[in-house]
Amino acid sequence: MNIALIAHDSKKELMVQFCIAYCGVLSRHNLCATGTTGKLVGEATGLKIQRYLSGPQGGDQQIASRISCNEIDLLLFFRDPISAAPHEPKDMNLLRLCDVHNIPVATNIATAEALIHSLERGDLDWRDIVNPTR
Ligand code: PGA
Repeated sequence: MNIALIAHDSKKELMVQFCIAYCGVLSRHNLCATGTTGKLVGEATGLKIQRYLSGPQGGDQQIASRISCNEIDLLLFFRDPISAAPHEPKDMNLLRLCDVHNIPVATNIATAEALIHSLERGDLDWRDIVNPTR
């Protein structure tokens, strides 16, 4: 599975801790991330992560483009719901594209944990059946 990671600044430490906790399962998948999120998670976990540009430079839109091409199977997007207003239109577009392409997406750690357990159990394997060419 191709898993994308994005965390707003106030949620980056949470993303790092999440990825440390679930390093085992994450290591069995292809990971990509926006620049700073990928750097921090990679340094903390040793996980191999394809890093895009930083979010403000367009990294989240690079991930959005992969979602549009149906190349992402799961998005973990830890948003700051309090102070993220300047980024909101592009964040909304990212979430909209997940809905268009039926991509499982978590915007908080509770949902992320539920999805990661689903991933471990193979509950998301239907994505491989739907897109066998990926
Ligand atoms: P970053 O991007 O991981 O490069 O910081 C995420 C964001 O848009 O905040």
